[in-house]
Amino acid sequence: MKRALLLCCLLVLIYHTDAQDKSLNSGKIDPSYFVTHYRDELITKLVDLPCGIKSDDPIRTILQKLHTFLLEFHPSDEYSDDIYARAANLQALKSVMQGGYGIGSVLIDQNGKIIEEAHNSQMQKHRSDLHAEMALLTKFEESRKAKKYMNIYVYKPGLTVFSSAEPCPMCLIRISTAGTDTKYCTPGPEDGMVSRIDFLPPDWKALAMKHDVSLGNCSPVMQKISHLLFYTFLLDDRGPK
Ligand SMILES: [Zn+2]
Repeated sequence: MKRALLLCCLLVLIYHTDAQDKSLNSGKIDPSYFVTHYRDELITKLVDLPCGIKSDDPIRTILQKLHTFLLEFHPSDEYSDDIYARAANLQALKSVMQGGYGIGSVLIDQNGKIIEEAHNSQMQKHRSDLHAEMALLTKFEESRKAKKYMNIYVYKPGLTVFSSAEPCPMCLIRISTAGTDTKYCTPGPEDGMVSRIDFLPPDWKALAMKHDVSLGNCSPVMQKISHLLFYTFLLDDRGPK
């Protein structure tokens, strides 16, 4: 009898833990989540994450808690791109910790291995072009290993740029011109060009569509963190006035 009771308790515990895990990751996010205009909205969403953030935490503590969560996060098989989302988000967080914008990118080879990582450095280096994807491709192309993956200045087939957020017009066109696929963790922000691809001139749209351009298969919690990292500029009002 005792043994049966113990088994029953164990099953309830397993079910409860599993349900908790699923509740962190399951469910489609309402598109309205990906619009954040004010600091209060951002704080509410940060507190709602499973990272232990409190509404009165100093900025440094908020960033440290996000960092710890990302480091300890184990991607599940259900979300095949979470491994890249986690790496891109860690890059985005690195930029935020340096006082920059929270967007990160990684370059993935044909075997799914991350071969380069970078983050937005516009504020840090006072450069208008250093969006995460631009910084990633430039860093990679200047490295020795690039020769193996490139045919002069065009990438050989099979490489993917994975970004924490949807690429802007400048980045999407460079990625398309260079010849890699494009994936991203979270839709938007407002200058996201993939969701506005029909606004490109027909020839540019055709160029962009020559390669795979798509939203990654990422868990809700990774998508939320990607979105919120981008909007961390609302925490201290960084950026041009
Ligand atoms: Zn960009």
